[in-house]
Amino acid sequence: MAAQLIDGKAIAQEVRAEVKREVADWVAEGHDAPGLATVLVGDDPASALYVGNKQKASAEVGIQGFDHRLPQDAPHDEVEGILRDLATDPRVSGILLQLPTPPQVDGAVLAAQIPPGKDVDGLTPLSAGLLAQGRRGLRPCTPSGIMELLRRHDVPIQGAEAVVVGRSDLVGRPVSALLLAANATVTVCHSKTRDLGEVCRRADILVAAVGRPGLVKGEWIKPGATVIDVGSPKGDVEFEAAAERAGLITPVPGGVGPMTIAMLLRNTLLAARAAAEEPVGAGWS
Ligand code: NAP
Repeated sequence: MAAQLIDGKAIAQEVRAEVKREVADWVAEGHDAPGLATVLVGDDPASALYVGNKQKASAEVGIQGFDHRLPQDAPHDEVEGILRDLATDPRVSGILLQLPTPPQVDGAVLAAQIPPGKDVDGLTPLSAGLLAQGRRGLRPCTPSGIMELLRRHDVPIQGAEAVVVGRSDLVGRPVSALLLAANATVTVCHSKTRDLGEVCRRADILVAAVGRPGLVKGEWIKPGATVIDVGSPKGDVEFEAAAERAGLITPVPGGVGPMTIAMLLRNTLLAARAAAEEPVGAGWS
C-alpha cells in the first residue's frame, strides 16, 4: 500500500479533546456551559442509540444535555411546542430533532424551523442557504468533518481539482460548497454523470458519498490524490486498489465516520459563542 491512512478515529479524538478544553475555558470565563437539546419522538431503537451517543459524547466534553423523549403517538403540535421552547431557551445552544419522525409529525417542516443559530446539524434550508452564499452559519457535521481531515493532513485545497461523487443535501452538496469556499475547483458527480471514471481521474481530492460499495475503481485514482470515502457501512471506493495509487486515503470504518459527532460537539460550542453575540431564538417563525 502506497497511501498514508487518514486516521479519523484519532483526529476525532483530538477534536473532542480540543472542544473539551475550549468548553472549560468558556465556562471559566463566566459563561454557562453550552447546551445540546435532542428531541426524539417514538421508540425506534437505532434513533434512540444515535441520540444516546450524542448526549453521552456531549456530557464527556462538558456540554449540558437536554434530552427530550416523546411517545410514538405524540402529536405534531406537542413536538412543535417543545421545539419552540428550546428555540428561546438561553441554556440551549443547539437543537437536534432526530429524524425520521412518526407519520403524524412532519419532521421536515419542524426541523426547518430550528433557528439557524441553533441548527447544530447545519441541515436546515436556511443553514444550507448561508453555506451556499458563503455567509456565516453552522455547517453540516459530516462535511465539516471531511474538511477537518483535509486540514489536519495539510492537504492543499486552494486551486486543487476536487471531485465529489454524490449530491445529497447531507453530504455531497455541502462538502462541495465547503471545498469551493476553500478555493478548490469543484466538480460534482451524480447518477447521471456520463463518464464517472474520466472525471474522477482528474481529482487531486476525491470525495465519494454515494452508498454503493466499490463504485469508485482503484484505477480511477490520480497518483498521489487524497481519497475521502464517506460510504457507510462499506466504502464506496475499492480500497486496496485505490490505496496503491493514492497519497492519502480514509479507511472504512475509522475514517469519516467518527468525525460526525466530534463536529457536532464543536458546532454546539460555536453556537454558544455566537449566541453570546446575537439574540437567542432569532429566526423562529
Ligand atoms: P444519498 O442521499 O442516497 O445520495 C447518494 C448520491 O449518490 C446521490 O446524489 C446519487 O445521485 C449519487 N449516485 C448514486 N448512484 C450513483 C452512480 N452510479 N454514480 C454516481 N453517483 C451516484 O446518500 P448520502 O446520504 O449522501 O450518503 C452517501 C453515503 O455516505 C452512504 O453510504 C451513507 O451511509 C454515508 N454517510 C456516512 C456518514 C458518516 O460516516 N458519518 C454520514 C452520512 C452519510 P442522484 O442525485 O443523481 O440520485
